[in-house]
Order: sequence, then structure tokens, then C-alpha cells
Amino acid sequence: MEIVNQVSLKDKNTFGIDVQAASYTELTDTASLPALAAYDEKRVLGGGSNILCTGPVSGLVIANKIKGIRLVQEDEQAVWLEVASGEVWHDLVLYAIERGWYGIENLALIPGTVGAAPIQNIGAYGVEVRDTIAWVQYFDWNDASFDTLSNEACRFGYRDSIFKQELKNRVFITSVCFRLPRKSTVNTSYGAIEEELRLAGVSEPGPADVAAAVIRIRSSKLPDPKVIGNAGSFFKNPVISLQQYLDLKKEHHDMPSYTVDESHVKIPAGWLIERCGWKGYRKDDYGVHAKQALVLVNYGKAEGAQIWQLSGDIVRSVQEQFGIELEREVQVW
Ligand SMILES: Cc1cc2nc3c(=O)[nH]c(=O)nc-3n(C[C@H](O)[C@H](O)[C@H](O)COP(=O)(O)OP(=O)(O)OC[C@H]3O[C@@H](n4cnc5c(N)ncnc54)[C@H](O)[C@@H]3O)c2cc1C
Repeated sequence: MEIVNQVSLKDKNTFGIDVQAASYTELTDTASLPALAAYDEKRVLGGGSNILCTGPVSGLVIANKIKGIRLVQEDEQAVWLEVASGEVWHDLVLYAIERGWYGIENLALIPGTVGAAPIQNIGAYGVEVRDTIAWVQYFDWNDASFDTLSNEACRFGYRDSIFKQELKNRVFITSVCFRLPRKSTVNTSYGAIEEELRLAGVSEPGPADVAAAVIRIRSSKLPDPKVIGNAGSFFKNPVISLQQYLDLKKEHHDMPSYTVDESHVKIPAGWLIERCGWKGYRKDDYGVHAKQALVLVNYGKAEGAQIWQLSGDIVRSVQEQFGIELEREVQVW
């Protein structure tokens, strides 16, 4: 394992921010983890699709290149796949689809690695990854030991898990085990999927049809990071009380919402940001995407600190206009 000093992370984060890592290494096996535990400051880098680097990155950046997919258990209903954390998420989706295994097809085309998927419980088109995770294995930097957490112990929530709370920056996730049903359980309830399937003339969709529909929808809606730097949704959709929603609705009749439970609703952050006039905003090389207000972008030479400042301005204006606090989804380095 080679450790190199002063490495640019520009092509290693989807925002395309040009910052230097003080030290950088690529990890291909878990056996080297105990040796790395001795480093004071370290960060795990997957696909770099959910980070914003706001300045030079001190310490050691460990790029996760650990590969491997293993069938560890199966019965008539399902298969259990143990997947090394450095596998590319979308490749895993395609791997499962080819074999007729269900459950993650709605999550097609989400950038990044398998190891990062449980951290913010990735979700899209009516499905969250927690629905298929059996357990997560990790290496704990604090006591240099390997451990396993069951699905329940991961305490998954909306774009949240124990890995963003108590275990934040404390572990290296080494593998994730997925339980994938063999029988049809496709979820097409998300409106745009049904419409896409109808347009494609598919009446009895399998996982491959759903993934193809999701890929078409995502490609038409989201900016490709290879063309315009971005990290997908920059903010989480805020959850507010039903009472606050009803009060706001008196003034903003067209405010959209999704029911969370009897007393809470979720408001699309993109709608709030657009209403504050930010959609399509651009200053120098940074701004808010013209088609999707939830996505902050780097048009070329933006600095992470500029995007961070813009995100703060957006948080403030949404707070002022709606009294709602937006929370950043992207991890700040
Ligand atoms: C165009 C675009 C669309 C997106 N769409 C969605 C979407 O629909 N739904 C969604 O949920 N997300 C979406 N995202 C966000 C992103 O793809 C996910 O959060 C993804 O899981 C990040 O994976 P990564 O490997 O790139 O993580 P990175 O960005 O490399 O890392 C993210 C954080 O996790 C930590 N980390 C990464 N791997 C490990 C590990 N093995 N062990 C411990 N810590 C680790 C890092 O230190 C960092 O703090 C989108 C991003 C983009 C650019």
C-alpha cells in the first residue's frame, strides 16, 4: 500500500473541486486497515459523490478500492449477497438485475460505492437501501477491531443512520450484506416510473424494466457530474409539523407536501429554494442548477468555500421566508 503526499482530489469528487489531500492511499484489502488505524487524521473516500471539499484536506485520504461479491446464503425466497464496500453501487444494481434478484432496481444510477450506501441510507423513487440491507460490517478506528451491525442496529432513518451519528468518522465500512428477493416485488408507485413504463409499452415490469425507466428519468432530470460538477441533492427535504404546514399553506396555497406520520409532513426542499428565487442563480463558476433547485453546481473553477457560502445564503433565505431550517445532505470535508 503506497501513501503519496499532496494529491489533487479534483477528479475524485463529483463536484470537481480542485483541492489537495495532504496524504492519499488506495486500499484494496481489509488486512491493511489495522496498520492505518495509527494515523491521527483519516477520511474514507468512496466515489466522492456526496462530499464538498471546502479547503485543503489534512491527514490521510483512504480511497476505497476493496472489491468482491459473494453469495453467502440462499433459499427459495431470497439470496444474501455480501458485497465489498469498494464496489460501484450502480454495477451492483446491474449485477442483481442480470440474475433476476429484486429490491434495488429503483436505486439504479445513484453514483458512489456500496460502502457509502448505508451511511445516508440512499433512497430514490420510493425505495430506500435499508429495505434490503441484512447487516453491515466495519472496522472501528478507535479500538482497531472488526464488527458487524444488524439492520436494526444501523438505526436507519431518512438519509440517516448510526454512521452519520455516533459512528461518524469512527469506522471504515468494509462490506454490506443485502437480502434480495427472488420473486417480483417491483415498486412502481412513484408516479414518473409508471408513466415511463407505459410509454415503453411495458405492462408487467421486472427489475430490468424498472431500472431502465429510472435510468431514463434520472438522465433527463439530473445534471451529469462529468459535464457539470455537483453532488446530487445538496439539502435534505425538511420534515415539519402538520400545524406549521397548515399555517404556511394559508399563505402558500400551492406548497407541496408528503405525509410522514399523523403529525408531520415532508416539504420538497427544491420547491422552497425555487420559491426563494435561487433556481438558475449563477455567480462566477458556482450556482444553483437551472432545472433542479436542489442541486448546487460547479461550472468549472468554483471553490468549495464558495459553494458552502452559497448553501448558507440559501439556508438563511428559506429560514426567513418560511421559518424552515434546511439541513445539508452533503458531507463537508
Ligand atoms: C448526480 C448525483 C445524484 C445523486 N442521487 C442520489 C439519490 O438519488 N439518492 C441518494 O440517496 N443519494 C444520491 N446522491 C448522493 C450520493 O450518490 C450518495 O450519497 C452515495 O452513497 C455516496 O457514495 P460515495 O461512495 O460517492 O461516497 P463519498 O462521497 O465518497 O463519501 C460520502 C461520505 O461517506 C464516507 N464514506 C464513504 N465510504 C465509506 C466507507 N466505506 N466507510 C466509512 N465511511 C465512508 C465519506 O468519508 C464521506 O463522509 C447523488 C449524487 C450525485 C452526484
